Amino acid sequence: MPQVELKGVEGKSVYVETGLFIGNEFVAAADASQINTENPSTGKVLASLSAAQKEDVDSAVVSAQKAFKGSWKSTAPAQRGQLLNKLADLIERDADDLSSLEALDAGIIFRESKGLHIAQALETLRYFAGWADKITGQLLDIPQGYAITRREPLGVCAAIIPWNSPLMITIWKLAPAIAAGNVLIIKTPELAPLFGQKLASLVKEAGFPPGVINIICGEGSVAGQALAEHRGVKKISFTGSGLVGRRIMHAAADSNLKKVTLELGGKSPSIVFKDADFDNAVFWTTIGITANNGQVCAAGSRIYVHESIYDAFLLAFAEKLVGTTHGDPLLPETTKGPVISANQKKKISQYITHAKQSGIRLLVGGQDISGNGNFVPSTAFADVPEDSRVMLEEIFGPVASIAKFKTEAEVIEKANSSEYGLSAAIFTRDVNRAQRVSEALESGQVTVNCWAILHANTPFGGVKQSGFGRDMGEEALDGWLTTKTVKYNILPSEDE
Ligand code: NAD
Repeated sequence: MPQVELKGVEGKSVYVETGLFIGNEFVAAADASQINTENPSTGKVLASLSAAQKEDVDSAVVSAQKAFKGSWKSTAPAQRGQLLNKLADLIERDADDLSSLEALDAGIIFRESKGLHIAQALETLRYFAGWADKITGQLLDIPQGYAITRREPLGVCAAIIPWNSPLMITIWKLAPAIAAGNVLIIKTPELAPLFGQKLASLVKEAGFPPGVINIICGEGSVAGQALAEHRGVKKISFTGSGLVGRRIMHAAADSNLKKVTLELGGKSPSIVFKDADFDNAVFWTTIGITANNGQVCAAGSRIYVHESIYDAFLLAFAEKLVGTTHGDPLLPETTKGPVISANQKKKISQYITHAKQSGIRLLVGGQDISGNGNFVPSTAFADVPEDSRVMLEEIFGPVASIAKFKTEAEVIEKANSSEYGLSAAIFTRDVNRAQRVSEALESGQVTVNCWAILHANTPFGGVKQSGFGRDMGEEALDGWLTTKTVKYNILPSEDE
């Protein structure tokens, strides 16, 4: 299969394979189908990659099954950990290439990809590498004997990945899946698949046996759907939209009842109380909606501010949002990249237009950015009604909806009124209030005096329509294991 040469940071060449990575080889799709990946800063095609069809998904499953039944099952747990550590070392070595690829096709600012996403991926790989030889069961007393529980891998699993921070989210799934002893098929996002082609080369170089990690690019409705329907796949770990999450659950129910975990979207509240450290709250709430252009499932897109500091907050927030330099995410001076696609730009712009037409107060942004590339201004609306679309729906773009509140009880009710429950942020100096409010919020995670910081040892995932299952932390490992109970009925001694 041919390689493509792309120009990364500082004009350095980055080479990526173009085939599907199955059984440690790069192969063409069965019917030679291809997907073009585009640069969202320019709209130009970057590369044509093989696009997996149903037959290719079948081949990947066969390759993974062979690996699972073969040497992988008897590979010592510590060796699984060593392979994950080796992969981490290689990703660290080639971080510039991987971040260049995320800048090129996902529009992620190079230094953010390298400094945040790759750094987090490395932490996660090394964290789960440590878990590989520490997976234990229990010893339980039962009448006339005892039982032991064994925690075993599920077998052939699949991970379906979105485009918004594709390498990091892939590693959230790959690291615990492999530490637990599974074999994995990763379906990369069709809008930002380049990282996966590079990752595949590193998987091979790290020394994973053929078939243990397979990486395929393909359309969601074709390759993703085929994985969801496949009877040979025992689990799907999915991050993406609620619509597709539902399709995957249907497909699982209609096929082999495979285990499904879903990390879906959010409309996460940030609550600024009157006793908050003001500058810290402004800093984190602006990061919460501008990081990765708001294309973050945990984006702090609803901001509730106590009425006593509301006007001052609006001024400070608006000031922080202006003055970004949009442009090529590979360049050091760029502070704002493009959103992923022309469609995504259109969707975000429609929300902004609708809010303006509904008479909602535009605080900052909201204008069209003309010229090449999918650029959207960081935008905030103030005094946003609770029943407006920009307050209720996930925009997945840099658009904040701000409103004021009077009492703790009122803001808890507003925060919990969403159908989502992924993440929430509280800003206060009062530890009692932080404890009370974090208990009352319906959310998979709550951060106090910061926004959505990620750590490899802390579980991340949602409640309500933000999904179920967890990435990271010991809990993520549980999601990739099944428990077998073995009971011993101790027979009386033959001497008696
Ligand atoms: P998406 O749901 O359209 O796609 C996600 C992945 O699913 C892609 O790989 C896609 O190819 C695949 N897919 C599409 N149709 C499929 C099908 N029928 N069967 C199986 N797989 C299929 O989402 P997106 O547009 O890539 O990402 C944006 C959405 O994802 C946003 O709505 C956002 O809220 C959500 N998201 C959530 C998280 C989280 O951690 N909770 C993280 C990132 C994105």
